[in-house]
Amino acid sequence: MLTKSYRLYVIGYKFISAAFLLLSFASYSQKKEELEIHYAQTITGEDLKKHLSVLASDEYEGRETGEKGQKMAATYIAKQFKNSGLKAGYYDTSYFQRYPMDIQYKKEVFLNVNNNQYNPESDYLSFYGLSEQTINTNNIFFAGYGMDDSKYNDYKNVNVKDKVVLIFDGEPMNKDSVYYVSGTKKPTDWSTNYKRKEEIARNLDAKALLIVVNNIDSAYKQYRHRLIGKSIKVKSNKKEKIPVIFISEKIADNISSSQRAVISEWKNEIEKTGKTISKELTCNLKIEIKIEEKHLSAENVLGYIEGTDLKNELLVLSAHYDHLGMEAGQVFNGADDDGSGTVSIIELAQTFALAKKEGHGPRRSMLFITFSGEEKGLLGSEYYTDNPVYPLKNTIADLNIDMIGRVDAKHKDSIEYVYVIGSDKLSSELHRINENANRQFCKLKLDYTFNNVHDPNRFYYRSDHYNFAKNNIPVIFYFNGTHEDYHKETDEISKINFDLMEKRARLVFYTAWELANRDERIKVDVKQ
Ligand SMILES: [Zn+2]
Repeated sequence: MLTKSYRLYVIGYKFISAAFLLLSFASYSQKKEELEIHYAQTITGEDLKKHLSVLASDEYEGRETGEKGQKMAATYIAKQFKNSGLKAGYYDTSYFQRYPMDIQYKKEVFLNVNNNQYNPESDYLSFYGLSEQTINTNNIFFAGYGMDDSKYNDYKNVNVKDKVVLIFDGEPMNKDSVYYVSGTKKPTDWSTNYKRKEEIARNLDAKALLIVVNNIDSAYKQYRHRLIGKSIKVKSNKKEKIPVIFISEKIADNISSSQRAVISEWKNEIEKTGKTISKELTCNLKIEIKIEEKHLSAENVLGYIEGTDLKNELLVLSAHYDHLGMEAGQVFNGADDDGSGTVSIIELAQTFALAKKEGHGPRRSMLFITFSGEEKGLLGSEYYTDNPVYPLKNTIADLNIDMIGRVDAKHKDSIEYVYVIGSDKLSSELHRINENANRQFCKLKLDYTFNNVHDPNRFYYRSDHYNFAKNNIPVIFYFNGTHEDYHKETDEISKINFDLMEKRARLVFYTAWELANRDERIKVDVKQ
């Protein structure tokens, strides 16, 4: 047993050493903090402006995916990565991850039922993204609403292989307007997302999907953006999408005439019982799809910094550098969308590379990606997550920046804000880390308005981070909201607030620094 005086001595010693430890911890964390602040300060409005003056100039022709301006921008970004000392992110051999694309610029779809030729746009609608083909068949299968849900299923014990499937738009509800699937008056995404129905029919090897809509005109308005203009399709080894055609009830009645049925009666019957009806139908149906397309390629730009003791884990920082190109001689410079995110990534990459050079490199590896194809449907990021250079299971998070150089109408009187979207969707730790970084260093107002998945703008699904989130990788999307110049030729550099952009880019820096250097990998602890 220890003597009393020795014990006192020990207690005193312990006290002193604890105090010393506390002090040294305080000075250690102070030093750590000073280091973070030191590097954050190398991200400056001045540098952001320097890069944006190049990328958002007319010379870059609006950086449209597959076109000259996009290639020039890719070269510029890769050069900045190289100058900053980042490694080539594409298997050490290149800064470019290149992917092939088919651009469809003309499409004709002919529809003939029992020798009646119908008119596109007034009788039926079809989307881009189909491949050229002719379907001539007598095998049609009516499959209710084309849904496959535990509460309501149209495909149980039926075989639709090589058949054209005919279904209703939307989902069934009872006489009190309560949907059978949700159990409430709120529709589920069976109503809002027809792609889900296409995917099921495709996986069951159907040939095509005909969706009966009440009103072709309103369907045209709803899907207008997908029906007009041109479309880009990325080549992949995924199963080809099957043709989806929205048809009027008039056409559907013709198809079902062999059953002496009016299609709306089947609808009433399903709605009454909440149970599906399925029927084999016989009629002669011809669908002819003619496509004119050209073949191009586009690049994602990847710069890599290898971590130290935790280098097998990877943090991704991303933004898209493509924009809308030119129209009638007008250049859409996309200074905010997403020139602002692109130059922020260039600056962030430079900062972390500098820290590494000076012996303060990140513990986890970091990949800085600028994507192309975003404006065409998140194509570049989808290509990356389908063909990841670094394993997705080791990818701890994606911090994505899309538009951080402007102020929206809501905040015009108090501009020190940024919208934060997605931070709490998969990882409560990620959300906390971003909040702490902001509280400690940046003091912006974090606006979570668009973080609500039911927000009608659906921003959570609308930029590149979503392709990471859908792979269960935690994400944050930093965003200034839309403004009067959004997707217009007036999205110019003269309207960018560089001081504000600097603050927002620094928030991304502080959050990234913590994510890359903390002991524990952030946990995925939120179920979607
Ligand atoms: Zn954008």
